[in-house]
Formats: sequence, C-alpha cells, structure tokens
Amino acid sequence: MSPETKNGKHYTNNINIFLSLIIVLISINLQGFADNLPTKEGFVIVIDPGHGGNDPGAVGSMSSEKNITLAIALKTGSYIEENLRNVKVVYTRKSDESVGLSTRSDIANKNSADLFISIHANSTGGSNAYGTETYVMGHSMDQANLDVAIKENQVIYLEKDYSTKYEGFDPKSPESYVMFTLVQNIYLKQSTELASMIQTQYKDQVGRFDRGVKQAGFYVLYKTGMPSVLTETGFISNRTEEKYINSEKGQNEIAMSIFRACKDYLAEISKKSINPSQTEDYRKNDTGSVTDSSDYKGKTVFMVQVVTSAKKIEIKPSNFRNLSNVTQLISGNKFRYATGIFTEYNKALEYRKVVEKVYPDAFVIAVRDNKILPLREAIEKKPKK
Ligand SMILES: [Zn+2]
Repeated sequence: MSPETKNGKHYTNNINIFLSLIIVLISINLQGFADNLPTKEGFVIVIDPGHGGNDPGAVGSMSSEKNITLAIALKTGSYIEENLRNVKVVYTRKSDESVGLSTRSDIANKNSADLFISIHANSTGGSNAYGTETYVMGHSMDQANLDVAIKENQVIYLEKDYSTKYEGFDPKSPESYVMFTLVQNIYLKQSTELASMIQTQYKDQVGRFDRGVKQAGFYVLYKTGMPSVLTETGFISNRTEEKYINSEKGQNEIAMSIFRACKDYLAEISKKSINPSQTEDYRKNDTGSVTDSSDYKGKTVFMVQVVTSAKKIEIKPSNFRNLSNVTQLISGNKFRYATGIFTEYNKALEYRKVVEKVYPDAFVIAVRDNKILPLREAIEKKPKK
C-alpha cells in the first residue's frame, strides 16, 4: 500500500467518523429542540403574507410585493410545520387573492392564535434605502415609521365600504392615527420580544442590515388579540435588495430567520412556563384551601388579569400557559381572564410577580361578583386588617 493510498484511507475513515459525529450531533440537536418546545397542545402561529389579488403592494423594477410576501410566508410556514412539533400554522392567504386587513386579524382571532406575523417588503421614493425592520403596534412620533404604516394601511381603500368597515379610519389622515395612542397594546412586551428575535436572526444569521424594531400604527396589528409583528423583509425599491428578496436563496434565508425567531420565542416561553402546582400552592397559602370565586359572593377580591379577548376562550390550563386557576369575567363586550383570588391587594401584587413570568403584561384588578371595579376605589374602601 503506497503512502498515498494509506493517507487516502485515513482520510476516508476520518470523513466517516466526521459524518457519524455530525449525524449524532444533529440527532442530539433535534432531541434538544423537541424538548424545548412548549408542552401545551396547539400553539397556533398565523402567518400573514401582505397584500395579494388586486393589491400588488409595493412595486419594484421587476416584481410586486404581493408575490414576494407569499413566497416567504409559505416557506416560513413549512419550516415551522416541519420542525416545530405541536405548532399549527394558519395562513391568511395561500394564493394570489385579496384579503382585507380586518379579515386578516379576524382569522388570527378566530383561530385563537398565539402569534401573528405579517410579512411585507418595504419601499421608498429613493433607491438607496436597504435592510430589514420589524414593527409592533404602537404610537410613533417618528415620521419615517408613520410613513411605512400609512403606506401599508392604504390597502383598505381597495375594500368596499372601507369607511364604515374601518369605523372612519382614514389611512392618509394623521388625525386617524390618534386612535393608536388611545389603546394600550397589552402584548407590546411579547410582540417586541418576537420582533427583536426576528431582527437578530436577520442580522446575525444572514448578515442583513438591521434597521431595528419599531412602533407604528399598523391597522392589521391593531385588532389582533395576541403578540403580533409586521416584518419588512427588504426594500423592493432598491435594485440589489429587490433581486435578493426575489431569489430562492434570499427567500429561504428570510423564512429561515423568521422560523428560528419563532423557535427561540417558544423556547423562551417554555423556560418561563409556570408549573401548575406552583400557582396552586400559592393560592393555598393565601386562602388556606383551594376555593372558587363563588365563595366570595358580595365581597371585593383582587385577581391578576392575564388576557382580554373579543372571543370566549375555553378555560383550561393549556389555553392559559399552564395557569390552572383562571376565572372568566365579562366587561363591556370583552372577555377578560384573570387568575388567583385574594382578599388582600398586596397578596395579589405578589402573585402578579409569579404570573409575570408567563404573562409579562399581567396586572391586578378588583372584582366583586364577577364584575370589575375601579381598583383605586376597591383598595381605599377595603377595610384594613
Ligand atoms: Zn406591504
């Protein structure tokens, strides 16, 4: 055997060992992957490809936004479906069709989605701007952010009876944007978390220029009852970037980034997830025994509100991130869900810190006979022990 052959054989052996090692590493990785996922059944991610049908979205020199968003959305969805167990993907559209902005949020709400991701491509008058940015619903004083929102909201002009349907909201009128300052985005923290994860993936994994996480009044994010983001995947108005977001490679990289961000978000949730027994114990400490709200008839109690929803949610731990002591309250035309029952305000405040791990925006409310009372009044009227 000549030295060359021998070396060649060694080389082949090394390659074999190397390949086996990779296979082992991949299996370990996949195993770890599955372990990281939330145990709760039916985590739902709604993927919303912007525009479609008679609305092309932004138009570049060789393509329309509606086709780019659809291609990226379908790729993102299949990465999620293939790799994240227990996660269901719902699309607001799967073909080139017109879908109204309010229909998109309705789809998310009807499917009791846990995340809503709207996919878009950006455009400016000039051709220099490039990079990615991800938005959450909020009020922005920044004109550039507002301009992006105005552009994306204008699709409602294409809808029939848009002024009735959108309660007088006029995308082009700055006054219309006041309404976004009046609502509190209770999912701001979680939405921002997901948005940053998406931006980090774009930047660190595929080297895209990071324009940051921003806030603005996007109608499509306004009515969704879950953490929601709108990601601008690149500028169709920039020749180089238009080519990239139209290419197979570009679309795969973007979809992979969004998928990985979802994976990170899920891993974060499952890390924070409360063990049901932890909350039961907490409640026992307060009341001495596990009771239900009917034991407090006519009395003012304090609870920690976790979710507001336009739609009724079935009370089971898996719908409430493993919280097992959830009560439904109806106020106005909304369903509110609160956890814990405490006779003392301070106990409820302490409990809020436990709940905060899974519902960062949870807050204490005062309740009597399943009706929400003004908190300040309840605290002041409460006889001191
Ligand atoms: Zn768009």
